Amino acid sequence: MTHWVLARLFNQAESIEQLNDAQQQALELFKRKIANNEYSFEDVPCLCGETEGILIGTRDRYGLEVHTHLCEHCGIMWTSPRMTEDSLKRFYEDDYRSIYIGDPQAPESFFREQVEHGEIIYNYIKSRIQWQAKESLKVFDIGCGAGGTLIPFKRDGWLTFGCDLGGEYLNRGKEEGLVLECGEAMSLSRYGPADVIILSHVLEHFSHPIKSLNEISKLLTDDGYLYVEVPGIFKVHSSYGDFLLFLQNAHLYHFTLSTLSSMMSLTGFKLIDGSEQIYALFQKSREIEMQKEKNPSSKIQSYIYLTEIYRKLYVGRFVFSSKKNVVWLHHRIRDWIREHS
Ligand SMILES: [Zn+2]
Repeated sequence: MTHWVLARLFNQAESIEQLNDAQQQALELFKRKIANNEYSFEDVPCLCGETEGILIGTRDRYGLEVHTHLCEHCGIMWTSPRMTEDSLKRFYEDDYRSIYIGDPQAPESFFREQVEHGEIIYNYIKSRIQWQAKESLKVFDIGCGAGGTLIPFKRDGWLTFGCDLGGEYLNRGKEEGLVLECGEAMSLSRYGPADVIILSHVLEHFSHPIKSLNEISKLLTDDGYLYVEVPGIFKVHSSYGDFLLFLQNAHLYHFTLSTLSSMMSLTGFKLIDGSEQIYALFQKSREIEMQKEKNPSSKIQSYIYLTEIYRKLYVGRFVFSSKKNVVWLHHRIRDWIREHS
């Protein structure tokens, strides 16, 4: 039975994301395609094989029907049913950018933000890895959008390559002389191996993350690094302020730093550094210690309840009438996560 605290995650039929006219039209078009059975859906188990989980909600931020399950065995949250492989491919080609960004061509602001984000990633990686003297280092960005993230690496003399399924956006990066392929990770195999691979807000979109990570591992040098960013469950209160905004139909899996690290260890990657945001640096390694947290799902479930109560208090000004009190609650959630991490 649905707990009253989570009722909104089951009932919300309208988009709660602010959409411009173009996005609104693209969303309506996508809904019509679903209603006309132009897209196919399939049931899938959790990555650990469990087929049953705790149903957290049946809606996403766009009001689309998205069933999110929390696995009581491994703590991963996953979407089921979800679009089939063919349907997902068409969704990314035809609808994704128009709904999520509102422009099938890469806007200049999008490219600029990618470059700025690339600088943050570049500085982070540089501060944590000591490179052996090498002629030139090589980086791949998988799911690179317009390729802007690679610019700071290129400026510093790195060999840079990227790939993405949304072909139109690649044109912007190609104008900057970047080598960008329209395709999945393996489209970069002829340029490998890479010293660093970036997966920035990509892993949560993969339909078979373990299979994809095994492929990506082959694109890396034997001790290469994988930089991963995904939206972290335990940062929903500060990053989104609303658990429903966090849920979006393109995201098929959701992680905490701990559940992400467990999955990564299955594919031969060990955690070097990371945060619950989540950004994390992994290294390919032959000696992996399987790390599995005890009972991760109950902590995640409690956190979701807390954030939903937090939102109700904040939006409804139910008890807390001043910003000070909201900040107080925000800190309690933060402390709670620290205690339970
Ligand atoms: Zn599981």
